[in-house]
Amino acid sequence: MIFPEKMVDLGKNRSVIRELFEYGNKRKTEIGKDNVFDFSLGNPSVDPPKCVNESIIKLLTEKSNIELHGYTSAPGDFEVRTSIAEYINKSFGTALSTDNIYMTVGAAASLTISLNAICKPGNEVITFAPFFPEYRVFVENAGANLVVCPLVGKNFDVDFDMFEKSINKNTRAVIINSPNNPSGVVLSEETIKKISDILQIKEKEYKEPIYIIADEPYRELTYGAKVPYIMNYYDDTIVCYSFSKSLSLPGERLGYIAVCNKAKYEKDLFAAICGAGRALGFVCAPSLFQRVCAMCLGKTSDISVYKTNRDLLYNSLTKFGFECVHPDGAFYLFMKSPIADANEFSEFAKKYELLLVPSDSFGMPGYVRISYCVDTDMIKHSLSAFEKLAKDFSLIGE
Ligand code: PLP
Repeated sequence: MIFPEKMVDLGKNRSVIRELFEYGNKRKTEIGKDNVFDFSLGNPSVDPPKCVNESIIKLLTEKSNIELHGYTSAPGDFEVRTSIAEYINKSFGTALSTDNIYMTVGAAASLTISLNAICKPGNEVITFAPFFPEYRVFVENAGANLVVCPLVGKNFDVDFDMFEKSINKNTRAVIINSPNNPSGVVLSEETIKKISDILQIKEKEYKEPIYIIADEPYRELTYGAKVPYIMNYYDDTIVCYSFSKSLSLPGERLGYIAVCNKAKYEKDLFAAICGAGRALGFVCAPSLFQRVCAMCLGKTSDISVYKTNRDLLYNSLTKFGFECVHPDGAFYLFMKSPIADANEFSEFAKKYELLLVPSDSFGMPGYVRISYCVDTDMIKHSLSAFEKLAKDFSLIGE
């Protein structure tokens, strides 16, 4: 092989989610889009808030082309980074400055930059399963190994003993994603405190920093649960944020990294973030949308639609006898497959045109992920298909 095998593999083998999405598109052309119940992708289904278009128009009217479409500084526009630092400080009582913020093209870039900034070959990065499948790609590409700690029990709790045992002298980071893709689980303040306590002890033992990478594209998408701001519990925190879901702008590719001002080696850490951004070619995030997002801080799309969808799906599916993790955030429902092989179950569900993502690539086999960022009407129409599926597996009577 002339090229790195790993890269060719990554390029050739589409993710299961993408495969299912492409299959859905094919089926939609064959039988009509209203007859396919596509729950595959996490693409926001509600419009961005009004402030997005208003800000674009205002910027296009008031700023010069050079200002709007020219390069910004490599870590992002100074005023934008300052607004974000001030917004975080006002919202969570932190004391960040402009030099704690690095603008990125979404959470994916925030994660790869952060991992490349802190990992050396042989380092380990822990995450809890189920997890966003790209973590493995990003961690391994940064030269580190992904160590997986499965959540346990009906409510998907952290097993603190297992977590503690999985930390060793090579551990450089722990990725926490709450609200979680694919389970919708939100980690409580108590859990965050316990994780922080364990990490503080381990940092002292190994005399090296262990960073928490808080992957937070779903921070605002909660239905009553509080999402603790991890920097307030643990100094060595790097927040990987994205506007993709909160403002329904995934295609515009905008996010940021916020490095805690109290993190160990703060200045060098931020320098390493800037360096990794440079090495990866992730400098100067899209200029217009940096400004748009800065003008929309604190605003979100209408997430009440997701709550309606969550309630409708969770209540209906559990009534049909399916076992589901109760999602307190994000827009995913994690449903236990009634048979051990979730791939087989997902294939079977296609019989009723239900597209459900099998969970193996999320590091926890035996489930399917149902993305409910879709039209509420589609969910309503899909319910009879779910009911038939439940009957096929004898979860409810004929
Ligand atoms: N992290 C998680 C948990 C996600 O679900 C996603 C996207 O769905 C990302 C990161 C990447 O987000 P972005 O589109 O902002 O790069």
